[in-house]
Amino acid sequence: MTEVLSTDYLETLYEGYGQRFRMDKLLHEVRTDHQRLVIFENPVMGRVMALDGVIQTTEKDEFIYHEMLTHVPILAHGTVKRVLIIGGGDGGMLREVTKHVGIEHITMVEIDGTVVEMCKEFLPNHSKGAYDDPRLNLVIDDGMRFVATTEEKFDVIISDSTDPIGPGEVLFSENFYQACHRCLNEGGVLVTQNGTPFMQLQEVKTTAERMRGLFADWHFYQAAVPTYIGGSMTFAWGSTNSDYRKLPLETLRQRFIGSGIVTRYYNPEVHQGSFALPQYVLQAINKPGNV
Ligand code: SAM
Repeated sequence: MTEVLSTDYLETLYEGYGQRFRMDKLLHEVRTDHQRLVIFENPVMGRVMALDGVIQTTEKDEFIYHEMLTHVPILAHGTVKRVLIIGGGDGGMLREVTKHVGIEHITMVEIDGTVVEMCKEFLPNHSKGAYDDPRLNLVIDDGMRFVATTEEKFDVIISDSTDPIGPGEVLFSENFYQACHRCLNEGGVLVTQNGTPFMQLQEVKTTAERMRGLFADWHFYQAAVPTYIGGSMTFAWGSTNSDYRKLPLETLRQRFIGSGIVTRYYNPEVHQGSFALPQYVLQAINKPGNV
């Protein structure tokens, strides 16, 4: 279904259900080598980016998503030195990762260089200069190819991809999770955006099946990001260390205070609570009878 060419932007992720944004100003529109990119201004959500008809990020609510996909695994791990970001071309994930002064190296593998360049220009508040961080190694490539071939190892891998359609589809494959597992140091953690289970429950089920036999500890955690419609978004969690999810709240509090990072959504209580999942999601991810 093509977007309606009017002053409205209609998200086309779902047939028969979706959200509409008034476009007060079209800032940029281009067909890149990989996808259709649109960035526009909306009076409520600020600047908005969409790829192939799906809302990717807005200035108003991006902090929720980026804080939860970075500070949860990094503070749970406690001694992260090397981080890999797959996707994340808008730069918001990178911005939050760079706030951790103990991190020594960040590799970011984004398939579409045009997304990076256009977001630097039209969404500057997302990266806020993080692309200039000397710890960054920016790679323009397919994240699947990178994790399948790299010899590098990481403490945290964050998959900040589009939905499992188009170029993002491969980032939800069994090969991808297996390759990420190979690229993790001992004690490493993989986290991924895994859709809104109310609308995309099969995505959660499939990821659970693929993580179940692979990681010593796997689960999901969640946060409600308003423009990822359909309720709370789930984030997949795959770790080689099953103690991270049992950390005392006091430990998380000490680490958060020690990080010196000022957040707008993340705090240790939200961190711990985010791993509590609604019954229908638990029923979906556990084998029958395990709930
Ligand atoms: N927050 C968004 C969400 O939850 O849907 C994701 C935002 S970020 C802009 C998604 C990025 O993933 C895009 O820049 C896209 O180009 C990138 N991407 C998609 N497929 C990829 C692949 N196979 N390898 C690397 N990056 C990919």
